[in-house]
Amino acid sequence: MRDNLPRRVLKRLALAAFEVDLAFDKRWRREKPLFELGGSCQRCARCCEAPAISVFWPFRRFRSLRALFLAWQRHVNGFHLVREDKLLQAFVFRCEHFDRKTRLCDSYDTRPGMCRDYPRRLMYQPNPEMLDGCGYRPVAFGASGMMSALRKHNLSEEQLAKLKKGLFLE
Ligand code: SF4
Ligand code: SF4
Repeated sequence: MRDNLPRRVLKRLALAAFEVDLAFDKRWRREKPLFELGGSCQRCARCCEAPAISVFWPFRRFRSLRALFLAWQRHVNGFHLVREDKLLQAFVFRCEHFDRKTRLCDSYDTRPGMCRDYPRRLMYQPNPEMLDGCGYRPVAFGASGMMSALRKHNLSEEQLAKLKKGLFLE
């Protein structure tokens, strides 16, 4: 269902807050990304099939906070809870803006910050797992230098390919 005016306004405000938070994070956060983001979006929409949000534990543990969080996601973002992933400490949703036939977002211009940012946040993880078919990939910092160094050794194509994959040098 396409966003109506109140939703659009709320989402714009939330997006502004998200962007301020992101800028603050970039400037002050001690944690640095472990990989560069390589590749590009192929518009496969796999990331819209089951959007997941990692949630700080009180929002999972305390009923009122949980209800508040889920109500915001449902009424503002159009995210309906499907399940809780205890391992990832995340809620997994169905997005009402995603049309599974056309694989398009009906409210693309007001999509939440997390949709715009995907999969940048994964670059902070030691072993980022991309969705199957995603056109983005994690690339190790200094990958081209490492590749040149590896090429100087007498490695077979197979060994090189294995190292490229395992060390995120592609
Ligand atoms: S709001 Fe749009 S971009 Fe975000 S998950 Fe839903 S369909 Fe995808
Ligand atoms: S899964 Fe990756 S390539 Fe596909 S739409 Fe999302 S970001 Fe783009």
